[in-house]
Amino acid sequence: MKTINIAIDGPAGAGKSTIAKMVSKELGYIYVDTGALYRTIALYITENDIADEDIEASLEKAEVSLKFIDGAQRVFLGDRDVSDLIRTPEISMAASRTSAIPAVRAYLFETQQKIARENNILMDGRDIGTVVLPNADVKIFLTASAEERANRRFKELSEKPDCPTYQEILDDIIKRDYQDMHREIAPLKQAEDAVLVDTTELNLEESAAAIVKIINEKIS
Ligand code: C5P
Repeated sequence: MKTINIAIDGPAGAGKSTIAKMVSKELGYIYVDTGALYRTIALYITENDIADEDIEASLEKAEVSLKFIDGAQRVFLGDRDVSDLIRTPEISMAASRTSAIPAVRAYLFETQQKIARENNILMDGRDIGTVVLPNADVKIFLTASAEERANRRFKELSEKPDCPTYQEILDDIIKRDYQDMHREIAPLKQAEDAVLVDTTELNLEESAAAIVKIINEKIS
């Protein structure tokens, strides 16, 4: 049976995961957050202090896997659930760096394609519409201005201790955008057949509704 595959790509902080979760719930599809896979590899490399030249050989031992528990994605290193550990600014930056390594992308490519072959999914990332699922039924490129993305992240973090300043968050976002868009392999870019959704002026509900509308129009 052919499964339905929706690709959502876009830069860090555009609201991809929150919006994709809302949309997948409404459509009854599995939501796959591919950034979590890159973050898990980054955690593995950081924890084991693996030098760049040893990364390719070490991936075989990494044992990265995804499980869907009560509909929510959890990511594992061996039998350890690392879903929460990978959400630090250090791992964000490390993931952006290690995701530029061809062997890392090749290692995760098959994992992502297999999930898409077997399930109706909404998958978010940077290269889903361009590389991982070039034949996706619907492709969305979700973005917002860097300032608005920094603003949202700042509001989210402002309750927490050691909250970075707005300027630090904006600098991080600009640096990560640059790294993701300028790497040689699978850079972040809008696929030719992707629909652009700019959420700078939209709230979460409006963004999710816009995407549901695009999907329904394309697959009905
Ligand atoms: O989406 P998230 O911010 O969790 O992704 C972390 C990093 O993983 C990104 O900055 C990007 O470098 C990388 N990534 C990627 N390709 C994907 C998903 C994430 O290169 N499909």
